[in-house]
Amino acid sequence: MILNSRKLWRESNSATLKSWIENHAGTRPCPMCGDVGILSKNGNTFQCVCAYLQEEAALYARFSSMTPALASLSIAHLRQNGDNRQWRSVLDAARALAWLAKNFDSTQWVLLSGARGCGKTHIMAAAYNRIPHSAIYTSAIYLKDRVFEAMGEETLNEYKRVLVDVPVLMLDDLGAENGSDFIKATISDVIMERYAHGRSRPTVISMNNLKVIEQPAYERVRDRLYDVDLIRYFPITAPSYRTRTN
Ligand SMILES: [Zn+2]
Repeated sequence: MILNSRKLWRESNSATLKSWIENHAGTRPCPMCGDVGILSKNGNTFQCVCAYLQEEAALYARFSSMTPALASLSIAHLRQNGDNRQWRSVLDAARALAWLAKNFDSTQWVLLSGARGCGKTHIMAAAYNRIPHSAIYTSAIYLKDRVFEAMGEETLNEYKRVLVDVPVLMLDDLGAENGSDFIKATISDVIMERYAHGRSRPTVISMNNLKVIEQPAYERVRDRLYDVDLIRYFPITAPSYRTRTN
């Protein structure tokens, strides 16, 4: 019998998991199982960590709004946008996200604001691409569509559970889900539950500006998102890549 090691890796072996990810994630063939996907020890057969990570990545990919263009992005593809000070605000946020992706087992959350097209999505996608086995990247609009789909299939609780449990949740363009208090309440539920786990459930939230969380529908989570012990805030001041004329 193959023992599914999902729980084992996540709960009792997180240091092993993290070091394996740092040293071997993406290495082919897998140095532990030679890509067979299973390991034997003391007469028991275990799922190898590489197979575990592939399963996790497939689960999280289903709920991520990645496109082929976003999936190819890295920090190296960033180009200077705006003057030196504005550009620094992009780089500071990009560094914070790279740190979060490297230390996702316990780290501060990141809140980003900035004009549409300033590079928020680029740096979030770049961070996601480092840890697809441990993260969901979703735009608020995509999340809204998934919530309605899950309601139709009566799987909303399962969907919310995945959003709460995923090691890193990246929610892009909060506020774009405009007009639906039910969606805002669902997002608030997810944020509140992740907040209860603090640094062990790092969360990245981007929005055009902080007015988004000043909306009455986000009243429940506002104080949490201003918790400076848990959350680092990066206002990106660079202009939009899409409208620049130089
Ligand atoms: Zn393996």
